[in-house]
Amino acid sequence: MTTTALPGHPHFTLRDGELFAEDIRLQDLAREHGTPLFVYSKASMLRALAAYQRGFAGRKAQICYAMKANSSLGVLQVFVQAGCGFDIVSGGELERALIAGAKGKDIIFSGVGKTRAEMRRALEVGVGCFNVESEAELDVLSEVAVAAGRTAPVSIRVNPDVDPKTHPYISTGLKGNKFGVAHERTVHAYQRAASLPGLKVVGIDCHIGSQITDEGPYLDAMDRVLDLVQAVEAAGVPLHHIDFGGGLGIDYDGVVPPGADSLWRKLLAKIDARGYGDRHFMIEPGRSLVGNAGVCLTEVLYLKPGAQKNFCVVDAAMNDLPRPAMYQGHHNIVPVSSRGGDAQTYDVVGPVCESGDWIGRDRALSAQQGDLLAVLSAGAYCMSMASNYNTRGRAAEILVDGVRAHLIRERESVADQVRLERTAS
Ligand SMILES: *Cc1c(COP(=O)(O)O)cnc(C)c1O
Repeated sequence: MTTTALPGHPHFTLRDGELFAEDIRLQDLAREHGTPLFVYSKASMLRALAAYQRGFAGRKAQICYAMKANSSLGVLQVFVQAGCGFDIVSGGELERALIAGAKGKDIIFSGVGKTRAEMRRALEVGVGCFNVESEAELDVLSEVAVAAGRTAPVSIRVNPDVDPKTHPYISTGLKGNKFGVAHERTVHAYQRAASLPGLKVVGIDCHIGSQITDEGPYLDAMDRVLDLVQAVEAAGVPLHHIDFGGGLGIDYDGVVPPGADSLWRKLLAKIDARGYGDRHFMIEPGRSLVGNAGVCLTEVLYLKPGAQKNFCVVDAAMNDLPRPAMYQGHHNIVPVSSRGGDAQTYDVVGPVCESGDWIGRDRALSAQQGDLLAVLSAGAYCMSMASNYNTRGRAAEILVDGVRAHLIRERESVADQVRLERTAS
């Protein structure tokens, strides 16, 4: 038997031309559960997590999985069992994390638009930290905490104004972005936080963007955050932890980002050199923990040769895989069973009635009607952003663990979709 690993997907292998997730043949899963079907490898998630754990070996550190990347309960459970905390951005995510077994103290609450109701609930369950994104939010959180008779632990999310060199929709640490408190306002905002009742300053936070593949922006941002730590503490507000956010990219198309372990070796060297090495560190990785742990299986419905383009119409669409339509995101697409034969160039598209419904452009494939394809790097920002557009039920999800395949989400039916709707009479 010849076994080759898929680039960037260590637990997805080709065995005699058949694609496997760990020890499960993907063709068998598609036959049993239908398509489109998301398949995740637990070992891949734990391997990605281990790179961060190596990077922080011997440090006081907490890894908080940014669950918006993939918030399915079966995925969250893997990270709960591995001892992770969670970074959440809504009250809904808070409840999901609790259902999956997370403890309140291991949850950090980020996001620019927290409502009073979300704050109250987060205080009630004792979240570990509110990452506050504006001075107005500090005032509201203080009021809510006082009214609830609680103390809200807070960090301020600072905007270091560095360019993460990623897509504009997923860069968050530039001056023109809606996120964080401006560099120049930071000391002032901390003094305000320290003076307000019901708040306890515990740390500082930044998150500069997503799908970052260069270490440069991270190193620059760390310098700026450490400058701010120094300035805030000089103004009399001690900071217990430094939260450096998430954003590390994955290999979608051959651009290989730095490993989490080597990146953190460099960042920690910088931190040590400036004398902050004994602080408590927190990070909020999302994509880099799950993105390449998942694929989406889809069936070729029709091949449609055209004058300018050949189309390969598949049964997965932009409602399942929104990244290409949203920000020209790239996913490699490979056959589930290699058949050889001459490759043709296709645009791989879904059935949704939008020209933006494409999954891959100009792909060389030797596909036939009825073949199965695997859309790679589909573990992050796919199912969690999936919709019901065109009244398409959301796909089923499988978590593979060695020789076992667990159905962690059933395929959504039309009855599921219309359950909350009423006609007028
Ligand atoms: C989205 C987000 C993350 C995770 O980003 P990834 O690119 O998936 O690692 C972390 N922190 C905050 C505040 C976020 O909004």
